[in-house]
Parts: sequence; C-alpha cells; structure tokens
Amino acid sequence: MGQTWDMFAEAEKTVIGMRIRIDDEPELVTLAYPGCVGMMGMNSLGVGVTGNNLRPTDAQPGVPWTFLCRKVLTSENAEDAARVLTEAPLCSGHNFIVGDAQGVGIDIETTGARCGRFDISEPTFVHTNHITHPSLLSLAEPIDPMGCTVERGCRLDSLLRSERGNIDVSSVQRAFRDHEGKPRSVCSHDYPVASGNRIRTCGALIMNLTQRKAHMVKGLPCQGEFEEISLASIVTEKRSAWSNEATTYRNHRYARDGRHPCEGSGKT
Ligand SMILES: [Zn+2]
Repeated sequence: MGQTWDMFAEAEKTVIGMRIRIDDEPELVTLAYPGCVGMMGMNSLGVGVTGNNLRPTDAQPGVPWTFLCRKVLTSENAEDAARVLTEAPLCSGHNFIVGDAQGVGIDIETTGARCGRFDISEPTFVHTNHITHPSLLSLAEPIDPMGCTVERGCRLDSLLRSERGNIDVSSVQRAFRDHEGKPRSVCSHDYPVASGNRIRTCGALIMNLTQRKAHMVKGLPCQGEFEEISLASIVTEKRSAWSNEATTYRNHRYARDGRHPCEGSGKT
C-alpha cells in the first residue's frame, strides 16, 4: 500500500514521521504533521491505512478524518479497520484504503453522512481525489477542471498495471516519482490551483504489510530518499516491555513492605 500527500507547498517543512507505542495497542508508524494524531500509516499487526480528500456536498459536524486514521491503526485486521470507518459519525469526504497482512484490501469512500465500500479484488487499485462509488455520485461536487485528480489516477493505474505480478517497493517509488504530464503529474511540483495556492507532493509512505516495513520520504518523492522503518521486531520489544512492567511492580512492592523482591519464595 502507499500514498503521496499533496498539500500547500508551505506544508512540506511541517511533515513528520511518528512511531508510537502505547500499552495494550499495536505499535504504529504514521506520516503526519504537528498537531495531527495520525494520517496514512501502518501498525505492527500488519494493518495499513491511507486517507485522501474528496469533495462531497453534505459536510457536517463529526469526527475528523485524522482521528479515524489513528483509530484504524489500533485494528487487528482490515475488516475491523473498515468497521471503524463505516460506524463512525462522519463529517467530511475522504477516501480510505485499509489493508492487512493477510492480503485483504478494502476501499471506503465517505461523504459528510454516508459511505460506500469497494472490496479490492484486482492486483492493483488506485484512488485519487474524486468520488467514484455509484451510491455517492449524487453527493459529489463537480470535478474541478483546474485539478488533476483524473490525470494522476489514470497515470498511476497505468504505471502499476504495467508491473502487475512484479510489484515491489521500488515499483511504487518509481510511480510516486513520476512526472508524466507535468505539472499535472503524480509527483507534483507547485501545481497552481484556483485559490492561488501551489500544491506540492509534501511526502509519501509505502507500506509492506506482510514484512511490517514502512518506507517514508518527507518532501518531494523524486528528490528525497525513502527511509525504511521496521515494525517487525515488535514481538521481542513487547516481551521486553512486559519484563520491565514486572520489574516495576516488584520494586513497588519492595518499597511498600521493605523486603527485597527476590526474598521469600524467590519466584517473583
Ligand atoms: Zn518530482
């Protein structure tokens, strides 16, 4: 799985990668920005999520999408992750792809109040920034003629289809660095939009869910090096954390009753 993050060019310098460990939750890595609890990412159980903007007409108060991404990253598999999205009080239009290490992939499009689901069965699946689910098309804003969501989607689909059967991390890196049709390209260099802002690819994340490895770049994918982040050692690390908790407990007891934790039965 993977995603590029296109945003105002000024956002590039704010991109951060976070690796988070919380007791009783899987470890996770996410590409985000300060103040944001989570965006695209994966966890140590091999569950991944991507999230990108859509433009529906029914926005309403609800749970912001970044909180949904973070909640998804506590899931044990793709079906659990999909339930997080479909059962949430939504507020805005986003597309989420969730996947797991067992090979299940699910795409969820949301509007302000509704969602549509695609079960991914094709070897490759691409989604950009326009609503495609038949049940949601009546809630879609018209595609911005100044935008390039259709062009980027078609190009990515073509690139990945050409490598079906042989896709690896480097295949996705090449696709994310593609400049065909520039400035309306996958790797976006300050693409001008109607608001007067410039849109740049501010970062990207590629996730190998079976190997529990994320590959992250901050800034333009064509100029930066992808850093590999492995969550594969979590089993060993978790055992170590439990051991530390047991030590802490024993030390508390020692402080309370004045006996060394190894005194007595010697079986603590
Ligand atoms: Zn580029």
